[in-house]
Amino acid sequence: MDLHDQYGLTRVVNARGPFTPLGVSRTDPEVAAATAEALGGFFVMDELQALASRELAAATGAEAGTVVHCTASAITLAVAASMAGESPERVAALPDTAGMPARAVLPAGHAVDYGQPIVQAVRLSGATAVLAGSGTECTAEDLARALDHPGTACLLLVSSRLTRGAVPFADAVAAAHRLGVPVVVDGAAQVLRVRELLATGADLVLVSGQKYLGAPTAGLVLGRAGLIAAVRAQEKGIGRGMKATKEAILGVLAALRLSREGSADDPGAWRKQAERVARFAQRAAELPGIEAAAAPDPTGLPFPRVGLRVDASRAGMDAKALAAALRSGSPQIWVIDQDADRGRLLLELVPLTDAEVELVLARLALLIAG
Ligand SMILES: *Cc1c(COP(=O)(O)O)cnc(C)c1O
Repeated sequence: MDLHDQYGLTRVVNARGPFTPLGVSRTDPEVAAATAEALGGFFVMDELQALASRELAAATGAEAGTVVHCTASAITLAVAASMAGESPERVAALPDTAGMPARAVLPAGHAVDYGQPIVQAVRLSGATAVLAGSGTECTAEDLARALDHPGTACLLLVSSRLTRGAVPFADAVAAAHRLGVPVVVDGAAQVLRVRELLATGADLVLVSGQKYLGAPTAGLVLGRAGLIAAVRAQEKGIGRGMKATKEAILGVLAALRLSREGSADDPGAWRKQAERVARFAQRAAELPGIEAAAAPDPTGLPFPRVGLRVDASRAGMDAKALAAALRSGSPQIWVIDQDADRGRLLLELVPLTDAEVELVLARLALLIAG
């Protein structure tokens, strides 16, 4: 009897990608075993963090790294670190920012909502979020004007398919550095592109341990040693409630080892993923009113998703109704429906078993024919 049976829990097929309300991702049994073993022991936490720093540096090319509770907390702590440094007085004072630089500048189109407005994760540190530009537009002049202020603590950029408008990262980093302002990049779902994000010159890059690394819930903070030390200093301040557990740190280390041994950086694995998407699209396109094709990731992740275009007059329902119908069956099937109003659904197949892929195709056929 599994946990779903034991507690009568809803069964879910997650074709929505690493989505927090569905439990994000699947952890490999090897990583789960390391996590479980960690729970049974005592460790010197500073030693675990020092080890994590070395392993994260080796895996990503960053100078140093640390593990915090999750990416949302990493955002709060990275901003806090840029305001307080390693000063014990400042660490103790936050979120009271009197006497500290306390403006965190973001391009307006980077003020995303990942289930929480990112500006709130900024404000939790005590900082004020200052939006540069407006709507989707943030020109180089907008950014320079917002940064050029003695109270600016950091520039925060977001690498995500949720952002609007194009801000060239390397230019933005250079503009901040000309004024001596450190740059933090939130790349929560971008662990597969972490070297690229570090290569922009950003001082701290934040990625999720659970989204595409398959570790237990963890936020990975990578970058310059001084700022990493300042993030760790927050453990004695507002970071107390955002700390990494022993099982999360050892789970991250196991997941890093596993990714080094194969899967994540292996172009062969991603080619198989692309083939799987192509096969799915070919079969889905046989259904009346459904156009299907591989949709590349807009941020440059190395795998496509299945894009479905739904013609309501032939399919018998529109994209919104189809997403709702998929979700109301058993097991529930969740897809990316943010563009459903424009007749478009996306399915991410990465964590699905072959049996789950078949189940999704069968359900689609049943709903469209019925
Ligand atoms: C998911 C996400 C977060 C939050 O990550 P958690 O691990 O849930 O804390 C932050 N920023 C972006 C862009 C995200 O996609």
